Amino acid sequence: MDETKKGKIVKVAGPVVVAEGMTGSRMYDVVRVSELNLIGEIVELKGDTASIQVYEETTGIGPGEPVVDTEAPLSVELGPGLIESIYDGIQRPLDSLVKAEGAFMSRGSAMPGLNREKKWHFKPSVENGVDVVAGDIIGEVDETILVKHRIMIPPGVKGKLEDIKEGDFTVEQTVAVVVDEQGDRREIKLMQKWPVRNARPVRKRLTPNKALITGQRVVDAFFPLAKGGTACVPGPFGTGKTVVQHQLAKWIDAEIVVYIGCGERGNEMTDVLTEFPHLKDPRSGEPLMKRSVLIANTSNMPVAAREASVYTGITIAEYFRDMGYTVALMADSTSRWAEAMREISTRLEEMPAEEGYPAYLGARIASFYERAGRVDCQGKPEREGALAIIGAVSPPGGDLSDSVVQATLHVVKVFWSLQARLAYARHFPAIDWLTSYSFYKQYLKEGFEDKERGQEMEALTVEAMELLEQEAQLLEIVRLVGAEALSPKDRLSLETARSIREDFLHQNAFHEVDTFTSLDKQYEMLKTIMHFQKESLSAIAAGVETGPIFKLPVREEIGRAKYIPEKDMGKIAAIRETISQQIKKLQTTAAAEK
Ligand code: ADP
Repeated sequence: MDETKKGKIVKVAGPVVVAEGMTGSRMYDVVRVSELNLIGEIVELKGDTASIQVYEETTGIGPGEPVVDTEAPLSVELGPGLIESIYDGIQRPLDSLVKAEGAFMSRGSAMPGLNREKKWHFKPSVENGVDVVAGDIIGEVDETILVKHRIMIPPGVKGKLEDIKEGDFTVEQTVAVVVDEQGDRREIKLMQKWPVRNARPVRKRLTPNKALITGQRVVDAFFPLAKGGTACVPGPFGTGKTVVQHQLAKWIDAEIVVYIGCGERGNEMTDVLTEFPHLKDPRSGEPLMKRSVLIANTSNMPVAAREASVYTGITIAEYFRDMGYTVALMADSTSRWAEAMREISTRLEEMPAEEGYPAYLGARIASFYERAGRVDCQGKPEREGALAIIGAVSPPGGDLSDSVVQATLHVVKVFWSLQARLAYARHFPAIDWLTSYSFYKQYLKEGFEDKERGQEMEALTVEAMELLEQEAQLLEIVRLVGAEALSPKDRLSLETARSIREDFLHQNAFHEVDTFTSLDKQYEMLKTIMHFQKESLSAIAAGVETGPIFKLPVREEIGRAKYIPEKDMGKIAAIRETISQQIKKLQTTAAAEK
C-alpha cells in the first residue's frame, strides 16, 4: 500500500476517529484504522485531518496508531452468491463469518462479500464479435432455483466481445474479454463492484405507473404501491408491523426481495435473522431466501455500520433492478439509520438541527428514496426494471411529528398508518383507512386484466371509502345523541361500513386462503358488499325496515367470502344473486303488510 496515504490517529470519539497526515485522501475513501485493521470511511476532511466513521467497535484503540487509506470508496461486490446471503452493513457475510469465527466475530475481519471458491455455471447468451456496452446482458447463471442471475457488462465498459465461453467459473475468473477502440482489453468476470453511495446508472427513469400487487386487500384496493414506488410504514410496538412486513415480503409481486434490518436492540435483529430464513415463498414452496438478500446489523456493531447498511442494501437492489427485475427493498427501521446519522454528526461536532438530527437529514432521506424507481435499464436487450422501497419508521412514542417521519413523508408516495388502537381491537392488518394514503391510486385499475373491471373497481373503492369516512362522522353523532337519532339510511351506512371493515379490510395473515387475495377476488368481494348497500338502499326507499335487512342470512355469506378459494371465485358472484333475492322477498312482504 502507498505509504504516503498513511496517517496517524489523534483522537477517538466513539465510532468517529480523527486522523492527521491524511494528505491526498478523498471524502468517502475507505480506510483501515489501527493495527487491528478496522474498517472506516472518511466523512469529513479539513486540510490533512480526516474524520473517519468506523464500522467496528473502537474500544482499545488510541492516538498514534496508523490509518491507511485504501483509496477506494465503500463498494459492494455484485455477482452470483448475493441471493440467500445474510450480510452486515459493509457486506461481510454474517453466516460465513459466524461459521468461521463464532457469534462474536473479531474486529478487522475482511471476508469478501462474494464467495471466492464457489463455481457457477455460466451460459453465454451472445456470440463472440458482438459490440457491447455497459448494461448488456451477455449470459446468465442459475443462482438459485428461483433466480436467474443475468451477467451484465459493468458500467463504463464498451467494445467488441471476445473469448466468451460457457463453463464453470468462480466470481473472479474471466468469462469474456471486451476490447475497446484503442485495443485495450478488459476482462469480464461474473462479479462487478459499485460504490454504494452512488446510484447505479439507468437509461431512462419512468413514471412508476404500474400497481405492485401485494395480495393484501387494504393495501391493494385502498392504498396501493407501484412498481418502483416508495412507501412508509410506522410501526409502534405491537401493531403487527412484523406480520405486515413478512406478508409483503412473501406476497409482493416482485422477483427479488432485499431486506435491511437496522435494529438497535439485539432482539430486534435476531427476529429477522431467525424468522426470515424460515419464511416460505408461497408461490414456489421454496424458502423465501432463494430470492432474497438480507442485510442485518448485529447488536455488537456500532452505529456507523447501520449508516452503511442502507447504502449497501440499495446498491444490491439496484443491481438486480438493472437485470430487468422487479425488486422490493424493505428497510427496517430507517429511524435507526437516522439515529446513526445523528450520533456521527454529534461526534463530528456539527451544528444540530431539529431534535439533534443533522441539517442534512432530510436531504439524505430524500436521496435514499430517490434511488427507487421504474427504469429503462442500460444495455441490450431492452428491458424494464423496478425498485420499490418500503421504509419502516419507528418514532419514539409513535409520534408522527418526529423529524424522521416528517422527512420521510415529504418524499414517499404511500403511507400505511399502522395504529395500535386497531391492533388492540384485533383489527389486522392494523392499517388505518382514515389516515393512510397513496398517490398511486389511479394505477390500481391498470392492475386488472379486464379494463372495465378495473374502472369498476376504482369506482367501488371510492364509494367504499366514502362510507368509511361517513362512518367516522356518524359514530360521533351516535356517541353524542345515541343511535336513535340516525335515519334508516344512516344506519345502513354504518352497517355497510362495518361490513367493509370486517369482511374486506380485515385479513388474517395466518389463514391459508385469506392470507392472499388476487385483485379479481378483491373486486368480487368489494362488489358484493357494495351490492348489499345498493339493494338495501332501494329496499329502505321502498319502506323496508333496517332491522330485518341487517338480519338477512346472506350477511353471513358475505362475511365468509374471504375464505372462498380463488378457484371458486364464481361463488362470490352467486352471493350477489342471493342478496337480491332475499331483499326482494323483504320488499314483497313489506308491500303486502301495507
Ligand atoms: P410488532 O412487530 O408490531 O410488535 P407483530 O407483527 O409481531 O407485532 O404482531 C403481533 C401479533 O399480532 C401477532 O403475533 C399476531 O398474533 C397478530 N397479528 C398481526 N398481524 C396480523 C394479521 N395480519 N393477521 C392475524 N394476526 C395478526
